[in-house]
Amino acid sequence: LATASQVEAVPPPSLPPFDHQPRPYTGISGEEILHKRKTFLGPSLFHYYQKPLNIVEGKMQYLYDEDGRRYLDCFAGIVTVSCGHCHPDVVKAVVQQTELLQHATTIYLHHAIAEFAEALASKMPGNLKVVYFVNSGTEANELATLMARLYTGNLGMVALRNAYHGGSAGTISLTGLQTWKYPIPQGEIHHVMNPDPYRGTFGSDASGYAKEVEEHITYGSSGNIAGFIAETFQGVGGAVELAPGYLKLVYDIVRKAGGVCIADEVQSGFGRTGSHYWGFQTQDVVPDIVTMAKGIGNGLPLGAVVTTPEIAQVMSQKIQFNTFGGNPVCSAGGLAVLNVIDKEKRQEHCAAVGSHLVERLKALQQKHEIIGDVRGRGLMLGVELVTDRKDKTPAKAETGLLFEKLKDLGVLVGKGGLHGNVFRIKPPMCFSKADADFLVDAMDYAMSGM
Ligand code: PLP
Repeated sequence: LATASQVEAVPPPSLPPFDHQPRPYTGISGEEILHKRKTFLGPSLFHYYQKPLNIVEGKMQYLYDEDGRRYLDCFAGIVTVSCGHCHPDVVKAVVQQTELLQHATTIYLHHAIAEFAEALASKMPGNLKVVYFVNSGTEANELATLMARLYTGNLGMVALRNAYHGGSAGTISLTGLQTWKYPIPQGEIHHVMNPDPYRGTFGSDASGYAKEVEEHITYGSSGNIAGFIAETFQGVGGAVELAPGYLKLVYDIVRKAGGVCIADEVQSGFGRTGSHYWGFQTQDVVPDIVTMAKGIGNGLPLGAVVTTPEIAQVMSQKIQFNTFGGNPVCSAGGLAVLNVIDKEKRQEHCAAVGSHLVERLKALQQKHEIIGDVRGRGLMLGVELVTDRKDKTPAKAETGLLFEKLKDLGVLVGKGGLHGNVFRIKPPMCFSKADADFLVDAMDYAMSGM
């Protein structure tokens, strides 16, 4: 392994060719937008580049700024643009439906909602056949938690540390990351260790973490819980793939304690992991409730909860209503997304491009000491940066610097993790091998100059 000063200089890479001419931008400048944002939009800790980008157009895996400069989008608008920016089939479906009828609540019948629900249910294993449409991942997790509590008659929920489940009061409580937590009543939530093979106490040994779940339930609750919620790949938490076998062990423990198992597939669904259509399938389990959003609509505001007819039955005790959930335009777009994933074999594509990318990233790890871990599957990847491989000291400042450098080279990655030192690589699923090579070459170039 070479030290930074010994690393051979590499030439600056150039973006792969792409046949698209962006339209000239005539809107207000990024400076003006920033000013308006500071004045009229609420303050937030969640901003990206030192000089935020004014993105005005998107085409498949590329984004264009106000000057027509092209960027390789390796983060898909936070893992949301599944098929590609403005994918023609999704655009067509949305435009056609918009011209006919933009809105109909579930008090009327609408074919797009019914057809989309049927198509989505056909993608689910086991008896997961009943779909509820909402507008976001947050709402999906709120509804799933309500279902779990109504169905079991219990209150307590078990969630993982380092998890992100949304921004409402209920889902903030489920979230296990301090950065996102406001001081509100957190309810009866038991946060257990996240089975992180790289940083976790038990490494890849799922049984150690599972035992801790059992102990939490035994000593920290009445012995009965409403449910357990987990992402199979912790997204915001830094692309952490749960230790193999963990969900199987924990689902058993939870079900014995009377709880139901919820899989948060907001980031990891729709074939992104390459090996399977849903993240939980990588752990060979079938949840009782599955929540989804983001990639379901390729950028349309859409979310869903899918459960069994038995659990869904509890929702008939009172009215369950959502004005926009399953809006015809979003449903038409969502149906087009499912069709594109099948027609263009996006799951298989994620598997092929993802394994090529992982291979190249692992080779890069051999060259650059700063890369502590390369992980993930398909196009759901994380690269964790450390200043010291043995102690795993997070390279927080270096991650920030590299992040800016990559942007200057035309590469937009995600940043996250508990220590803000993980590059999250989750591009639109049309991302090509040439794009993967460009990304790695750009990382190599940026790291060599450090
Ligand atoms: N669950 C997971 C795993 C997420 O990553 C997110 C958002 O990042 C959410 C839930 C919340 O989704 P939304 O922002 O659509 O409310």
